[in-house]
Amino acid sequence: MNVTMDLLHIVEQAHSLPRILDAAACVIAERLCVDVCLVFLLDEHGDLVRSAGDSSDASGRSERADAEAASIAAQVTAERRVATVRGERTSLLASPMLLRDSMVGALVLQSVVRRDFSAEDMGTLATICAQLVGIIENARIIDALDRGERPLPQAAPRPLSTESEDGERILSGVGASPGVAIGPAVFRGAYRLDLSARDLPAGESTTERARVRTAIEKTRNDLSRIQVAAAREIDEEHALIFASHLLLLNDPMLLENIDQKIGRGLSAPLAIDSALDEFETRLRLVPDAYIRERIDDVDDLRSRLLDHVLDSGSRARFGAGIVLTSRTPPSLVIELKAEGAQGLVTASGGATSHGVLLARAMGIPVVTGIADMLPSVRPGDWLIVDGTTGVVVVRPSKDTLARYEEEGRRAKRARTEHAKFRDILARTSDGVRVTLHANVGVASDLTIARENGAEGIGLYRTEFPFIVRDSFPTRAEQVRIYSKAYELFPDGPIYFRILDLGGDKFVAGGSIATARSAFHGYRSIRVLFDHPDVLRDQVQALALAAADRPLRILIPMVTSIEEIRRIRAIIGQALASLDGPRVQRAPEIGAMVEVPAAVELAADIAKEADFLSIGTNDLIQYTLVVDREDSRMTPMGDPYHPAILRMIARVAAAGRAAGKAVGVCGEIAVRSDVALALMALGVDSLSVVPTAIPELKQALAAARLEPMRRAMAGILTLSDARSVAAALREAQYA
Ligand code: PEP
Ligand code: MG
Repeated sequence: MNVTMDLLHIVEQAHSLPRILDAAACVIAERLCVDVCLVFLLDEHGDLVRSAGDSSDASGRSERADAEAASIAAQVTAERRVATVRGERTSLLASPMLLRDSMVGALVLQSVVRRDFSAEDMGTLATICAQLVGIIENARIIDALDRGERPLPQAAPRPLSTESEDGERILSGVGASPGVAIGPAVFRGAYRLDLSARDLPAGESTTERARVRTAIEKTRNDLSRIQVAAAREIDEEHALIFASHLLLLNDPMLLENIDQKIGRGLSAPLAIDSALDEFETRLRLVPDAYIRERIDDVDDLRSRLLDHVLDSGSRARFGAGIVLTSRTPPSLVIELKAEGAQGLVTASGGATSHGVLLARAMGIPVVTGIADMLPSVRPGDWLIVDGTTGVVVVRPSKDTLARYEEEGRRAKRARTEHAKFRDILARTSDGVRVTLHANVGVASDLTIARENGAEGIGLYRTEFPFIVRDSFPTRAEQVRIYSKAYELFPDGPIYFRILDLGGDKFVAGGSIATARSAFHGYRSIRVLFDHPDVLRDQVQALALAAADRPLRILIPMVTSIEEIRRIRAIIGQALASLDGPRVQRAPEIGAMVEVPAAVELAADIAKEADFLSIGTNDLIQYTLVVDREDSRMTPMGDPYHPAILRMIARVAAAGRAAGKAVGVCGEIAVRSDVALALMALGVDSLSVVPTAIPELKQALAAARLEPMRRAMAGILTLSDARSVAAALREAQYA
């Protein structure tokens, strides 16, 4: 169904907003076979008002039907996603209208016959909204100019939070890891604020000292329990994440300092706070990045001790809570998983930062970019975290809870449906196969990848064991870690990426400190060139783990063919110095294409490397100048940016010309429309987060590749992300 031409026709006929909306509403209602199409627009106060654009005969409409339409319009604009409900007498389908990231309004379809709208109807409506919203904005500007007014900024600003009469509050952020979690709020690292507001009188000094010792003991028990859980749930290597906390807890000087402060009349919490403050101040003065990085640990320890000494009992464990925090380091995600927490809300951190990727792999819903959580949420408040839409509902009403619970049941049913596709190979309905691999970073990902029917590991991120602990794993430890991949995927293929440290894969201090800034050039293989011993150990560990099975190595952040040659030489030397009959001599070495220079050189790199793997997370970051660690930098259109699609097309063509396989291992491949587009461009394999594999297989099985292939030449000429997104969707459902 192509409504685009109809919309174009309307625009040619009329430019006033009311006329355009009326005409569009009629066309949409007719094309989607519904009785009514209504347009709601956000006014300059942020209120949602029904605008011109009513396809109905207004005299025949009931108040009840109007209220149902208004209610679903409010719902989809708050949740920022398409929704369908069955009202008392009507069925409704609605979609938000978003211009880039700003909410413009909603389009509501209403049918007086009760019916179920299909996924295809939802997709069509979303596509229409994407097209209509640009027309609306342009018409608004022209209307304003015609009236002699200065046009308002493009769209009413997206309200960051809204509060309803019953105290429910909606906070909008970035949906970073999909899924819904419901539970009580548990703050992480917010105690300093609390403490300053509290009256904390000191008791007898012996009592206060005893409180301190009890808190230390309880904290030590908590940490030990988390370490054991991390080893069980994730893998042993991650169990050491609290080593520095434990060392500090055992420090007699720290305890002495706390005792002295109590002797001078301070209460236990204030003495702990002040002693750790002094410790932190001393750390800040040390000119060593590694030591200074321990400040985060001190802060965390302070928060844990105070939690026990104040006996709030609220955060001894995350339990089934929703954790609110300022950042998402991988170690926090590991702890969260080990403790059974349900979801995560953070102030910063982009949708492809490593902590978030880890959360996604582990199925933990995450919303990032919620800056105003402190004033809006109290510890213990009931929260709904919707990691799919980026919405956090604080103190939800009964109705909202019921709606999300129903949604949860529906999602569960959908997962059961997806699960039926686990064991089949990825194939479109017109019979075209694509190899579907998994991206993994920790041992537990491997199990999920296997259960979900991954054909292999397309990207094994080897950084986590190096990031989360204080010392690098030894060669023997690495052999043990990498061997697990072969245990679960004995026939492979497994594509191991050599260490990609730096930027968001930050390692503090030591001789191999890397910079946190994502755009800092000293990262990845450049760091390895300065530390060939680290690379040698890793390559030897990979070879020993592979034994006589094929070994495939990925080089990250390639910018030139010299780098590939240099790494190949180091790998060759590392393997030559290994003894034994089963030692690898000629692993396959692939180049990751994830910076614009590599796209320019794709043909040359394709000749030099054994295969290519396109890392779109970094390609988007470095091409579109968006920091993946920054939640403000996650516009919804990035994956559809025409520059990215054209770059992938060039790399796929270069690989084909050189007879080398090309895979895509960035996050964009989880979107079924993009996955189809990648197939149409001739990409041989896709590698995605393991939890997404069954759903992607199901979506591919429902689509045909041929229309996408036919549309691709035209799509590659489109020059804006919205048009690309609309065209991909249309080709997917054609
Ligand atoms: C990428 O950059 O797309 C990629 C797959 O690697 P990572 O996300 O680990 O940087
Ligand atoms: Mg990358």
